[in-house]
Amino acid sequence: MPELPEVESVRRGLLRRRLRGVSLARVRSSGMPLRLARPQPLAALRRATRGRAITDVRRIGKYLLIDLDGPHGVLVHLGMSGNLVTARRAEVWAPHTHVVFELDDGRDLRFIDPRRFGQVDVVDRGREREHPSLAVLGPDPIAEGLPPDHLAPAAARRSTPVKLFLLDQSVLAGVGNIYASEALWLARIAPTRPASRLTAADAEALTVAVTDVLSFAIDNGGTTLRDFVGADGVPGDNGEYLLVYGRAGQPCSRCRTTIKKTVQAGRATYSCPTCQPR
Ligand code: ZN
Repeated sequence: MPELPEVESVRRGLLRRRLRGVSLARVRSSGMPLRLARPQPLAALRRATRGRAITDVRRIGKYLLIDLDGPHGVLVHLGMSGNLVTARRAEVWAPHTHVVFELDDGRDLRFIDPRRFGQVDVVDRGREREHPSLAVLGPDPIAEGLPPDHLAPAAARRSTPVKLFLLDQSVLAGVGNIYASEALWLARIAPTRPASRLTAADAEALTVAVTDVLSFAIDNGGTTLRDFVGADGVPGDNGEYLLVYGRAGQPCSRCRTTIKKTVQAGRATYSCPTCQPR
């Protein structure tokens, strides 16, 4: 599943394709039902987008927001393996293309979603955060910034292991399995430690670590996206810049202790027993 840095790579890729200022002419659909948050979404999408120019593409957590020069915008979630791409109108739709926004410059903006876990919906401009999918999310550490006093009080209320605390999208928007392990290693915190037992210094270190690992991954994001999504969820050789994730059996780059793989809530966690003592 694409995490925050991968979705950010999609966002940057779309902006490089010069979408700003291009108008949406027509919406077409494969007719396959999407996981949409509101009734009659396709009719609403058509009304909201017709003749409107794209002013920006933003991201909150794993959601993309297509800003338009009108009262509405478009919310897109890529789901497990979806993508949002531009194509010339004449190009045949790729398999699993479910929503196509025809642009007035002869191109299409196409939403491809093989497993149909994605989402496309209309949002009200200026009130995007009130959409049901975004209202439940904590702050996006990159797009919105992580206030230094956010993690400590949120953690104090939860006895769940800190790794699972980081995966909770109501705490932080966009942090997934890979970057939770990375941030905990960087902050020297055992993934099994109850969130409520973090010290103020731990919370501070974790705030910095989360921001750092996400920023670093965004800088390397193109490679991650190709490897990660291309291989259908299995990481490829993007491990060249990962600090601890996927490195079980290898020496910790800080202390040379062997990196350990454990399973928490059914998902792999990687940590260094020396740097991250229980
Ligand atoms: Zn270590």
